[in-house]
Amino acid sequence: MDDKLRQQLSDWLGFYRELGVDEFYRREPGGSAIPAKTAAKPEEASPLPTPLPRAKQPERPAAAPQPKEPSPAPGSISAPGPAAQSLSLFEAPAAPRRERETLEQILSDLGDCHRCKLGQWRKTIVFGQGNPHAELVFVGEGPGADEDEQGLPFVGRAGQLLNKMIQLAGMKREDVYICNIVKCRPPGNRVPEKDEIETCSPFLYRQIQAIQPRLVCCLGAPAVRTLLGIKEGITKIRGTFYDFAGTKALATVNPAYVLRNPREETILREDFEKIVEFLGRK
Ligand code: URA
Repeated sequence: MDDKLRQQLSDWLGFYRELGVDEFYRREPGGSAIPAKTAAKPEEASPLPTPLPRAKQPERPAAAPQPKEPSPAPGSISAPGPAAQSLSLFEAPAAPRRERETLEQILSDLGDCHRCKLGQWRKTIVFGQGNPHAELVFVGEGPGADEDEQGLPFVGRAGQLLNKMIQLAGMKREDVYICNIVKCRPPGNRVPEKDEIETCSPFLYRQIQAIQPRLVCCLGAPAVRTLLGIKEGITKIRGTFYDFAGTKALATVNPAYVLRNPREETILREDFEKIVEFLGRK
């Protein structure tokens, strides 16, 4: 591997390690994924790796309210956790010092994205909306028709229900930040596919890293799978707090699911009570 590519790979790994992402795979020319940890020769790992979410430990009962962690000084980097330290693709030199990104920078990097096939069908990229310093970030599945039209997340019927829950929790929509695991509408509102999520989720990780919320609320199974790597049914694990890269994450159902199953609104209400309690708003 030449020095330039090695440095590029090292920067890339350092960046994701900083986000708490510690498992990578490389794609074989034939398409199969090989975990980086089992790759015999790092020199063969090509092209740049794609991050996979790391497994998280549930915490029951809900975590007690905590003061917001002080933001790291510009340019500083938090030490990788024990899991991240086990990454052994090769001995990477010290991670590059990088400024905390702004959402504007991430949006600008996203550009007129056509990195995955969703780009060809969307009308508008739905990047995210809300307070760039929010304590609470909601992550949904993907834009629907209304979102695609307006370029804003959760503005259809599911969005109205989300707004209602936010209000019942004593907050305003402007207080929180709302986004999705993919930024373009999947055709027919189908669930985003693996390759689409893999391509788009690094932007989501960067958004969360830029905002540094106290709590990330995963709305529905695809968000839970993407951020927490948990494949269990959402109705089983909802209401549980997990750890996402050093930030607490709560799993709950997507308001769109509640629209299809109105009796399940109690689930959403219960989980929003947990959010209120966690944020110490009571
Ligand atoms: N609207 C969104 O933006 N995301 C969802 O997951 C559902 C509706």
